[in-house]
Amino acid sequence: MNNDADLVILGGGCAGLSLAMQLAELGEKAPRTLVLESRHEYVNDRTWCFWGHPDAAMSGLASHQWNAFSVSTGTRRIVRNCSAAPYRMIPSGAFYAAARERIARSPGTELLTGNPITSEPVREEGSWRVMSSNGPVSAKWIVDTRPVNPHDSLQPHLWQSFLGQEIVTEKECFDPECVELMDFSESTPSRILFLYLLPFSKNRALIEATVFGREPMSAEDLTPALRSLLGKRLGGAGVSIMRSEHGILPMGRRLTPPHRGRGYVHAGLTAGGARPSTGYAFQRIQRWARECAAAVARGEAPLPHTADPLIQRAMDELFLCVLRSRPDLGPGIFFSLLGNVEPRRIARFMSDRSRLSDYAAVITALPPGPFLRELPGAVLAGLGSPRGATPESSW
Ligand SMILES: Cc1cc2nc3c(=O)[nH]c(=O)nc-3n(C[C@H](O)[C@H](O)[C@H](O)COP(=O)(O)OP(=O)(O)OC[C@H]3O[C@@H](n4cnc5c(N)ncnc54)[C@H](O)[C@@H]3O)c2cc1C
Repeated sequence: MNNDADLVILGGGCAGLSLAMQLAELGEKAPRTLVLESRHEYVNDRTWCFWGHPDAAMSGLASHQWNAFSVSTGTRRIVRNCSAAPYRMIPSGAFYAAARERIARSPGTELLTGNPITSEPVREEGSWRVMSSNGPVSAKWIVDTRPVNPHDSLQPHLWQSFLGQEIVTEKECFDPECVELMDFSESTPSRILFLYLLPFSKNRALIEATVFGREPMSAEDLTPALRSLLGKRLGGAGVSIMRSEHGILPMGRRLTPPHRGRGYVHAGLTAGGARPSTGYAFQRIQRWARECAAAVARGEAPLPHTADPLIQRAMDELFLCVLRSRPDLGPGIFFSLLGNVEPRRIARFMSDRSRLSDYAAVITALPPGPFLRELPGAVLAGLGSPRGATPESSW
């Protein structure tokens, strides 16, 4: 069968565009690639943050970086210097524009927007056939980055739901030098709620209300919490809302997409792209995209996300089990972790680059009682659900 493309990527969001960009870099070795994306246009719909270790991908697109972060509970606040691995932010609008520009310059790679997949791909005569709203396409390989509907899959331990608003205030309200990673002043014993604040200037910031809970929360559900956090933080200061963003991320337990067969892989947020214990996915997706493109350049089939190291899986599992069963301990646990472990170690731990001494430092910072109680179940569950990306260089 004569295929329309070597590779079809379903979904042109973070994972689909990242892979397409990496493939575009292969020049003559690049497979003929089509990205089929349902949206008609790209808008600045989310903000990607990560710890800026030396070889963090796409750092050139970062619009802001911070050398300090704070964590606080109702009664305590600590500020840490993280200049060794600054906290960086990429507006998705900048990423989408860069990806589209790179893809447009590559003769073998094409992005087709306004092209939703209308029925599930089928295998015919050794090829994959995909039906989109613009007709059928055949290919040797498929990389499917469409999100798996979490409600159809195994229940995660927790859901991370957040609603954020980028605001401009009349008065100067923010310290532009310091990210507020977690402020738990409004948390309750039954609900882990925190404010996350990225200050862009003294009067402009992205402020989010985030909940780690047993049920996912819509933007509507989160609106009262965000209003309350804004009210307390800003007092009566006049505020203009520039834009909003909302997310629901499953935390822990792999959402297993159906196995389709040869030459078909799932990737992205719900297929191992996100770190189970944090929801951070951007840098993991970049690493996967590099590894996947390298495999294709060698003439091999595309790769899925690879499993996290066993110790990391077990620790993530344990951490989520404790947060799920003891939400009242959540603020203290995060305060202890972010306040006591050296920031460079925190950044490595959260970026899947831990050394053994980093794991040890994290374990030492946590209260032993609740973790020991959840240990047996968590280790078993962690062993059974590999997910995620492979750690690489040391820094
Ligand atoms: C608001 C928000 C903020 C986040 N912030 C961070 C952060 O700070 N740091 C971090 O590391 N991670 C963050 N994440 C998590 C993660 O990085 C993002 O969710 C990321 O976009 C995941 O990439 P993806 O390609 O898997 O999914 P997406 O980027 O959502 O891409 C999936 C694509 O598939 C397309 N699609 C869906 N159905 C079809 C169909 N039938 N046909 C064709 N196309 C289809 C969609 O339109 C979309 O473009 C955030 C997530 C959200 C939602």
